[in-house]
Amino acid sequence: MNIILLGPPGAGKGTQAKLLEEQHGMIQLSTGDMLRAAVKRGEPLGLEAKKIMDAGGLVPDHLMIKMIEDRIRKPDCAKGFILDGFPRTVPQAEALDKMLSACGKKLDAVIELKVDEAALIERVSGRFTCAKCGTGYHKKFKPPKHAGVCDVCGSTEFICRPDDNPETMKTRLKAFQDQTAPILPYYRQKGLLKSVDGMASMDAVHGSIEHILGETGKA
Ligand code: ADP
Ligand code: ADP
Ligand code: ZN
Repeated sequence: MNIILLGPPGAGKGTQAKLLEEQHGMIQLSTGDMLRAAVKRGEPLGLEAKKIMDAGGLVPDHLMIKMIEDRIRKPDCAKGFILDGFPRTVPQAEALDKMLSACGKKLDAVIELKVDEAALIERVSGRFTCAKCGTGYHKKFKPPKHAGVCDVCGSTEFICRPDDNPETMKTRLKAFQDQTAPILPYYRQKGLLKSVDGMASMDAVHGSIEHILGETGKA
């Protein structure tokens, strides 16, 4: 199955994508992670994107469309993919439709995670990841089992994203409202949009998504 997880920054897209990867062997395609990897490698695209990401804006459509088009053609996507962070604008959604039909693929569902603004701010403020293996944590909602030690790889080094601060979060939330929310009616019209209460616990949200995938699979 090919799905999109749609929601504002901190809604739980990455968390849910990882759970679906474990359960179904689908591939998580996170444009945010791809951009951060390009920044780390010092690629020209990374240098261009970094300023925009640090300011909380959106990277230009043509760059993002090219990035996802190259990725979606890779053989591992045949098992099904979870788009996390793409599309973020109506032109990106339209380009996605074109590239999928060009390679004979289709979207099965677009799952919207609904979360209140106050909760989003609390979620990004407490978010951190293992510097070595990238496992995601939250200081209140998902702390490591042993304080300061990664559950997965045992590393004791963690990193916070430079854009996960209250100031930049304001700009990112506005970008979501102004540029990303308009893609909700786009998918509603196509009958693909499903909404989930993203305020629930990580496990409960996962359960709701599994339910949707079960229903979609039957349809
Ligand atoms: P996104 O990819 O949408 O930006 P993440 O999946 O990275 O969001 O989640 C943001 C932060 O909130 C992370 O620290 C994560 O551990 C935490 N989180 C995710 N889902 C929930 C949830 N349902 N309840 C509480 N905290 C959550
Ligand atoms: P979050 O998990 O908080 O929603 P992401 O990790 O998906 O954030 O994205 C981080 C930043 O990368 C965004 O604020 C934006 O600058 C850039 N970005 C990621 N995906 C896209 C996209 N599809 N279009 C434009 N910019 C993007
Ligand atoms: Zn780790």
